Amino acid sequence: MTENSTRMDMERICESITGGGRSFKVVRGQKTSYIVASDSKETFDSSSLSSLPGVSMVKNTSCCYPLASREIFGPSRPVDISAGVRLGCGEAPLIMAGPCAVESREQLLKTARGVKKAGARILRGGAFKPRSHPYAFQGLGSEGIAMLKEAKKASGLPVITEVMSSEEAEWVAPHIDILQVGTRNMQNYCLLRTLGRIGKPVLLKRGMAATVEEWLQAAEYILAGGNERVILCERGIRSFDRNTRNTLDLSVIPLVKSMTHLPVVVDPSHATGRRDLVLPMSLAALAAGADGLLVEVHCSPEAALCDGPQSLDLDEFGRLMSAAGRIMQALREDEAQCTLPLAR
Ligand code: PEP
Ligand code: MN
Repeated sequence: MTENSTRMDMERICESITGGGRSFKVVRGQKTSYIVASDSKETFDSSSLSSLPGVSMVKNTSCCYPLASREIFGPSRPVDISAGVRLGCGEAPLIMAGPCAVESREQLLKTARGVKKAGARILRGGAFKPRSHPYAFQGLGSEGIAMLKEAKKASGLPVITEVMSSEEAEWVAPHIDILQVGTRNMQNYCLLRTLGRIGKPVLLKRGMAATVEEWLQAAEYILAGGNERVILCERGIRSFDRNTRNTLDLSVIPLVKSMTHLPVVVDPSHATGRRDLVLPMSLAALAAGADGLLVEVHCSPEAALCDGPQSLDLDEFGRLMSAAGRIMQALREDEAQCTLPLAR
């Protein structure tokens, strides 16, 4: 719809497309409004709609994730996180780092200071932990959110944390800069709808056995609620080999970038489950065109209550950041010579 379209314009269009097995949804985005119509019988005559008042453009597609699709909405768009912090669209990759779980004030503040010093731009930390084992540490809950707020204030870093239900999302949203949807909840459509309505930036992890289309359709749920700030995160998929926790699907970075305008980041920590593989996989992800990384870092990984074996200590994270800088420099030089066809 055009920027100055009226409610009447919308209603007129909706009336003209109802019936005949067609369904539609009005999407009031942060910048633009859309009407997404689907027609199971393919009897849709889009040309008659183009001349109606309030219509900016009409596009036909068979794509099952139209608002996320690059085919309709064109090249990559950055996602604004908070003042001065943006992700995607050729900006320097955004590194998010911090502990798997918030365990204490001291642990979080020490890790926050360390990752900031090394160059991280966002602090991660789970307050609500989705653990496979029902008796394992489940996170500090609301106390953890209070600690994240304090660490944000102390470090100046925006914060990301996981929410597992609509109720958690509603009350956590005002305190946190990015809401994370974990692999286990990628198809929790009730949660995705809530996140669409809330409008805060969302980092959507790929389900551990999700196809790329299922992942993009999950993103579409959030976009269809009017929230345009969605970040995709590849965190490894289930495979047969147990030497690594998961199998990092690096090919999805350029692949998904050819399908969607949404930024894509990589979580090398959950993808491998092994500290020694985090640095090489981070560099590979950046070389493949990732817009950022989500890395688990702990001030003393051997004492971590959750995911210690895959957490970097602060020195290791510092080395990762230096190596990432050198990789980005090499990519820029190569791009200047136009030898690397990176999808950006
Ligand atoms: C996490 O990032 O804290 C997490 C639980 O990751 P995943 O959902 O990828 O397992
Ligand atoms: Mn973890």
